[in-house]
Order: sequence, then C-alpha cells, then structure tokens
Amino acid sequence: MSDSKHTVKQDQDVIKQHNKQLVLDVIRTRRPISRSEISKITEMSATSVGRIVGELAEEGLVRETSLTSTGVGRKAVMLDIEPGGRYTIGIDIQKKRIVIGLMDFSEQLITAKELKHTSLESSSEETIVLMAGTVLGLLEERKIPASKVAGIGIGTPGVIDYEGGVVQFSSTLGWREVPLAGKIEESTGIRTVIDNDLKVKILGEYLFGAAKGSDKTVLINVGTGIGSSLIINGDIFRGGSNSAGELGHMTINPHGNLCECGKRGCLQTYIDESALLTEARKVRGIGEIGELFAAVRANEPWAVEIIDRAALHIAVTINNIVCLYNPDTVILSGDLVEEFGEILEWLDRHCSVVVWEPFRDSFQVIASQLHGRSIVLGAGALALHQVTHN
Ligand SMILES: [Zn+2]
Repeated sequence: MSDSKHTVKQDQDVIKQHNKQLVLDVIRTRRPISRSEISKITEMSATSVGRIVGELAEEGLVRETSLTSTGVGRKAVMLDIEPGGRYTIGIDIQKKRIVIGLMDFSEQLITAKELKHTSLESSSEETIVLMAGTVLGLLEERKIPASKVAGIGIGTPGVIDYEGGVVQFSSTLGWREVPLAGKIEESTGIRTVIDNDLKVKILGEYLFGAAKGSDKTVLINVGTGIGSSLIINGDIFRGGSNSAGELGHMTINPHGNLCECGKRGCLQTYIDESALLTEARKVRGIGEIGELFAAVRANEPWAVEIIDRAALHIAVTINNIVCLYNPDTVILSGDLVEEFGEILEWLDRHCSVVVWEPFRDSFQVIASQLHGRSIVLGAGALALHQVTHN
C-alpha cells in the first residue's frame, strides 16, 4: 500500500520536473515569450504555467523583460531566460590543441582557453587531468559555482560511444577504450557528455553558424583527416555504431593509391594533407602545406594541378553524397578551407560538371562560419541538451 503511494508520488514528481523543463525549453528557444504563448505551445493551463514560471524566476533561471506583447488584447509581459542562470562548458580536443569554452544560458561564448597540448605525447590520464583542472580553474576565475554548470560537452575525433561516454578508438589521440566522460565527471563533479568531433561540429553550425535554418545538412571536413557528418530533419544521423560519415576510407578507386588502412583507393589518399604533401614533394622539397598554397597563388602549374585534382575529387565526393541524401546545404570545414578559402571557387567549377544535373541547383556549398569555435559551441549545446533531458 505504502509502496504504491510512494510510486504515485514519484510519478508526480517526474511529471512536475518534466513540465518545468518543458517550460524552460520553450522560453529558451522562443524568447522573448509571454505566459499565454507558453500556455498555448505546451497545452498547459495558465495557472500551471504561472506557477512554474514563478519557480523558475525564484531559481534565477528566468526573468521578466521590459517588453510587452504586441497586437490586440491585454498587453502581456514578455519572459526571457537569465543568461547567468546556468552555464555550460564545451571542449574541443584535437591533435595538437585543446580548446575549452564557457557558455552562458543564452548560449553565448563568454570566454575560451586554448591549450597547446599533443595528446599523442601524453598518457590519457595526463590529458584528462589537464582538462579537468582547466575547467575548474576557469570556473573559479569567473566565480561560477559548479552547481550552476548544467554540463560539460566534449567533441573529439574517433569512434565514440556517446551513450556510454567512452572513446573507443581515436588514432588522432592514441586512445583506446578511454571512459572519458566518467573520468571528467569524477574530477569535476559536473555531468559530462562526449561525441565525435564532426557530429558536434555540425551541431554547432546548425545551431549557430553556416547551417542555421537548414535541417538537411552535410558537413565535409578536409585537412589532416577526412570525415563528414549529417543532419537529417534536425537530427544528427549516427548509423549503427555512431560512425556514419567516415568518408576518409570510402573507396573511390579499387586500383588507386595504397592507404594506411591497407586498402587501395581510399578517398583520403587523394585529398588529405599528407596526400597533397606527398604529391608536392615529388616536385619541390616543401616543408608544410602553406607553401603549396603559396605556390598555387603564384600560379605555378605543378601546384595548380595538385589542387585542381584534389578539388575534382572533393566535387566527386559532394556529388556522391548529394545523390545519397539530397541535402540543401554542404558545409566545407577543416584546414583546407580555412587556409585556402579559394578552394570554394574551384569546387564550384568542378561541381557544375561533376554533379548530376537534377541536383545541380538544389544545394549550396559554403565554408564553415564559426572558425574553429564550432566544436566548442556545439559541445556546449550538446551538454545543455543531453544533460537536462536525461
Ligand atoms: Zn583507407
């Protein structure tokens, strides 16, 4: 008897908590908004909405603005979230650097710290201690108690079990089966979620950058590594093991170049940085990729040929993806587009020949807009969403 009463009480608490989260989400995503609009959207009574808004205001998460609703009828006070009510941390771990950003509740990046750190040269424990310490230092510096932080989100290259919080395999970091989320939670006391960097990156571009407003988006990353991610109808497409989009090892020529994976003709052997360097060094002893771009800009035929061939292969890849998924936006990100933005014009030229005619005007190819901050912002958004809804 007392057991069933207990269960009913628990159920009521869960419903209450759910309703509160729902109201908070509506305010956060549609702000500024009036109480009556919230009531319409959530299909909750005006009394319930009024009570919940009161609770959220008391907790410092929501505030009344000086704005009132427009249109006929009684003027209603508009509500907004309190930017300092909650915070999230977004972390971007790459080969030679870690960026840690702090976002407020309005999802504005308040500050970001960039650490020069090569994970391959340290143990995973050292890297985790460094990150956790930096997060706690950042919060202390800004006088933000950990209780105000909704969560930490981390994006990193590799095969990531995002539900279990484990980096299963990352050749970029040299990690295998590292329970990253749990370790960061242990050291900071803050809920932590992790995901593959390109999945987080496309989320950042979708919410804040180049793909805002497009819910059928592909992101192709070209640089030291090759990969992609996909948003279909507003959701990240993951595939069976969260590895959908591993373009680098897509076979484009079974008789082609030998790849580090042991197969022939993988896409990355045609367009990644080391492929371009290998080609360039057959002609000139260049040190780094910037020298190739300089030679292209100086119109040296051998350099122009290398980039033109890479652009052709990227255009072919775009055609293949467009034929499969029919996206409205293709975002190009990574070192190639960041250091050699002219590549977009070359792609335009090749796409006009290579892309199947019915698709030719159905999508736009654009560069990533968030310049190295998309993973941090996306990771923060991931944390806010995952942690508050689970
Ligand atoms: Zn391969």
